[in-house]
Amino acid sequence: MSRTQLKAVLSQDKLPSDYYNIQHDLPEPLPPPLDPSTTKPMAPEPLLRLFAKECVMQEVSTQEFIPIPDEVREAYLRLGRPTPLYRATRLEQKLKTPAKIYFKREDLNPTGSHKPNTAIAQAYYHKKEGTERLATETGAGQWGSALALATALFDIDLTVYMTRSSYDQKPYRRTLMEVYGAEVYASPSSRTNAGKKFIQQDPNHPGSLGIAISEAIEDCVTHDNTKYALGSVLNHVLTHQSVIGQEAKLQMEEFGDDPDYIVGCIGGGSNYAGLAYPFMRDKLRGKSGAEFVAAEPKAVPSTTRGSYRYDFADAAETTPLIKMHTVGHTYQCPPIHAGGLRYHGKAPSMCMLIDKGYMRSVAYSQNEIMEAGILLAQTEGIVAAPETNHAVKAAIDIALECKRKGEEKTILFNLSGHGLLDLKAYEDKLANKLVDYEPDDRALSQALEAVPVVR
Ligand SMILES: *Cc1c(COP(=O)(O)O)cnc(C)c1O
Repeated sequence: MSRTQLKAVLSQDKLPSDYYNIQHDLPEPLPPPLDPSTTKPMAPEPLLRLFAKECVMQEVSTQEFIPIPDEVREAYLRLGRPTPLYRATRLEQKLKTPAKIYFKREDLNPTGSHKPNTAIAQAYYHKKEGTERLATETGAGQWGSALALATALFDIDLTVYMTRSSYDQKPYRRTLMEVYGAEVYASPSSRTNAGKKFIQQDPNHPGSLGIAISEAIEDCVTHDNTKYALGSVLNHVLTHQSVIGQEAKLQMEEFGDDPDYIVGCIGGGSNYAGLAYPFMRDKLRGKSGAEFVAAEPKAVPSTTRGSYRYDFADAAETTPLIKMHTVGHTYQCPPIHAGGLRYHGKAPSMCMLIDKGYMRSVAYSQNEIMEAGILLAQTEGIVAAPETNHAVKAAIDIALECKRKGEEKTILFNLSGHGLLDLKAYEDKLANKLVDYEPDDRALSQALEAVPVVR
């Protein structure tokens, strides 16, 4: 028996009682969302047609801690929170690194990703405010299944627009959503004007998160008593995810260790913000020198090759303009398996932290992240989601760098989800059929030219 501590499991009473809101500690206030027609700051009121009132208030709040309602804490406990934090000693040995690698397990709930952390909160607030039906989009299907689970728990109807590439690649995700009682459509669909426009352009359009968002918003505003819920990017979503990092801080203390590197994958930024922001709080107060590393796909290089500026949050230009790192809202995201990372922009608070140098980002191809995922599976026994494998790859790269330098650093990454409904990605990798996509400079600059100019 090894005497090394392998995992930290928190008891029920250690479940966080509040969400942590990074807006309290950012080096400056977030640039406000702008009205595209006037490029003047937008008041939050129009958002009330879409989102739960409580979420709109959290969106603009600078209050440091926001109490978690008892009903939400009960659902968290029931579905597996607090989640364990593991040490990856077998992966460390395989890499022959002096570094210590830890990971937080957000894969251990019924839908297998971090997304129920916010889905449950949003469904609860909607129920309390009398919403009868929700419309939403999903890329890989993880957000759709998380919200389907949450709306089942709180008895709300749900319609999901699922990007066509995932709808075709991941039939079991759709079934999972339907088991929870949701109705699911491939996007672009002919149910909305936004969807019809894209089908006309290309009947076999693979879809994108940006298009699916446009469809869900149109469905919301054209139906009574229907509201909308977003699974990433927005401030309130990142705030809900802070339960991950708050637990991880206690668990790292239990290990008697403090992370030098905090690592995660970014689609919109929510799982990584969830892990990172409670640690970032210390860095922003000058109390920590930890390094923050965000990993994105080379196919959708928002923070590594995109531009930090105002852009639409959706493809059909129906949303306010948001200041973020973007590859442009017209960018055609290639059909990579990490469907959850196919979003043209990233969360505004995270983009500010990257822009100001508090956080850095790296980009990887499909083949290298799946190789990292296979190494994790063969050492630690856990089959992670293709999205998550970006974080695994970044953690491995840092561990190998520590080996070259002979440094005994501590690395913590977020295991944002399992890959058991994403086995097609592993099948394609093992069959040597995985294509690496990377936009050429021309495709990128074309997409950036379509971004409105705001001075
Ligand atoms: C959705 C998803 C992501 C990407 O979304 P973020 O908001 O950046 O966290 C990453 N990993 C998994 C498993 C996901 O389901």
